[in-house]
Amino acid sequence: MRIYLSILCLAACTTVPGTGRTQFNLFPLSEDVRLGEVAWKNTLESEKVLPVSSPEHQRVDQIMQRLVAATQQRHPNLAASFHWEWRVIQDDSQVNAWCLPGGKMAVYTGMMNFVTSDDQLAAVMGHEIAHAVARHGTERLSQTQAAQVVLAASDGELNDREIRMAESAFGLGIALPFSRAHEHEADELGIYIAASAGYEPKAAIDLWQAMQQTTGRTPEFLSTHPSPSSRAAKLTALLPTAERIRDRSK
Ligand SMILES: [Zn+2]
Repeated sequence: MRIYLSILCLAACTTVPGTGRTQFNLFPLSEDVRLGEVAWKNTLESEKVLPVSSPEHQRVDQIMQRLVAATQQRHPNLAASFHWEWRVIQDDSQVNAWCLPGGKMAVYTGMMNFVTSDDQLAAVMGHEIAHAVARHGTERLSQTQAAQVVLAASDGELNDREIRMAESAFGLGIALPFSRAHEHEADELGIYIAASAGYEPKAAIDLWQAMQQTTGRTPEFLSTHPSPSSRAAKLTALLPTAERIRDRSK
């Protein structure tokens, strides 16, 4: 078994930029981009997307321009291959945002209403970008049997079933939570991306605490993300480095 895994790893292990973690990923980066685009088109078709001229889109646009520039600076090899695109989805009931493999970002108006500053919104978006940078979607897909099916279809068009499999691995549709390790990795990479873009790193901690204190219905974002208390402690430990990065960006 160990020999088998070693051979698999030789063929398919890669290193996560920024954290150096070894990752088992059957997909080339070009497949992240392609699968992300398929899921993007498919998902946006069923959502109410705000026009790019709307004030909500303009706000997200300004933050994304800075975050993309910071991501390209911090992870140049990877970010250059992304086909970045972003949209705001009109849905006040969804306190949520996501970034698909390859750099397709959606922010829901429910999240925009929930945050109290652009720094907090940048913290959420930086975290989501980090999932894409660390390639968590295709890593998770690689851990399932669906990977073989999707890979087998990679020369042709994906059918609905294959698209569903990819989407669920990317946290869409039936939203499976990312693993704790993925969440902490996205927190770490994300707080540095937002800090590089000049945003206040402490906003990430304030935001998780605000979400935790929300009474009544659990925000969608939290229901697919693990308990905020351990994440706040880990983010606090990263704060001095993140603040140095923010200072250097100014
Ligand atoms: Zn996450």
